[in-house]
Amino acid sequence: MARPAVITAERRKTRQIKVGDVAIGGGAPVSVQSMTTTKTADVDGTLSQIYALAGAGADIVRCTCNEQAAAEGLARIIPRSPVPIVADIHFHHEMALAALEAGVHGLRLNPGNLRKPEEIRLVASEARDRGVPIRIGVNAGSLHPDLYKRFGGATPEALVESARMELAYFEEVDFHDVKISVKASNVPLMIESYRLASETFDHPLHLGVTEAGPPPAGLLKATAGIATLLAEGIGDTIRYSLTADPVEEARAGRQLLEALGLRERKGLDLIACPSCGRAEIDVIGVAKEVQAALEEKNLPIQVAVMGCVVNGPGEAREADLGIAAGRKKGHLFIKGKIVRVVPEDEMVEALVAEADRIVAEGIEARLAAADSTAEAEAEADRRALLEKKGEDANNSEVRVNLIRKTIGGEKD
Ligand code: SF4
Repeated sequence: MARPAVITAERRKTRQIKVGDVAIGGGAPVSVQSMTTTKTADVDGTLSQIYALAGAGADIVRCTCNEQAAAEGLARIIPRSPVPIVADIHFHHEMALAALEAGVHGLRLNPGNLRKPEEIRLVASEARDRGVPIRIGVNAGSLHPDLYKRFGGATPEALVESARMELAYFEEVDFHDVKISVKASNVPLMIESYRLASETFDHPLHLGVTEAGPPPAGLLKATAGIATLLAEGIGDTIRYSLTADPVEEARAGRQLLEALGLRERKGLDLIACPSCGRAEIDVIGVAKEVQAALEEKNLPIQVAVMGCVVNGPGEAREADLGIAAGRKKGHLFIKGKIVRVVPEDEMVEALVAEADRIVAEGIEARLAAADSTAEAEAEADRRALLEKKGEDANNSEVRVNLIRKTIGGEKD
């Protein structure tokens, strides 16, 4: 069921760091991050969100550490968390020191609002002694005012310079366990900034479009930025910043990596044809029904819902399992081969049962168990539909002929 990677660009070589047991950079799988929205002092509430995020695909979770109560919360959360925890630090370097005392697996510092060199060096020294990595989290919206002035705005050069300056403080105390982000809410600026960062540093890069907003626009913006860079081989860990339940962020991150072939499929991938004049069923309705039936099981397979048996099994031959409609029947197929024909009103049920069997027994075993008459029955249905609707079910050829007659003056 593993699919080959579709990203052909070679991944940019970066150093490797480890956030808890999750390796980032240096050829490690691209990881997914998300951030809790609870008060970190609310230990049970935060832990339950961390578990939900981990279940949705987050490899690492970040929690804010903005006050003493949050740091104390972290001390209680970390031993019970299923994934490594990063503390998000703004303005107060003491909060970084407190988070280190709490046992965090990583820190995120914002160079735009933590500016005193001696404080930055102190945090880096403490992190170095404890073997805890730090993300230099530059953000276009909170860029240091001096850099803003020097570069005439939040340009890619300004964002990268901010990271470089912070890195220089770290290097003064011999601390190198670093990853970098140069986020912006403007997608072209974000892309250019990361391209420049990738040319400038060999540290792993954490990708994100900051404040992308609510879905669907937020999802599109984040995907446009993150996917473009991943396709160029840039990026070692990602976060969707959505104005939504963070579970959606984790799920989106995971789904993007799976869609790009950068992570192995962990959950269901439902595909469906766009429907056309040949459709024998309400494709949208059946796809929703299948999604509802399979979503909870979250099986790691690709399932196709196709509107007709004329083209469906062929068009979706890469899918592990699929259903195509025709002549009041459901034609169940595995890797494009028809394995069973069932009445139309039983096809969703049959599809779900077959999905379970595929996961339990494997594709080959289920292909071997195919109903020997199914292919012939499907072919007969296919032929009958072709005769009924003809080869040109969408009337495209008829229209083309009309256009030729109108424009070109062709005669019958
Ligand atoms: S030809 Fe069949 S499978 Fe393809 S889009 Fe039309 S209905 Fe769907």
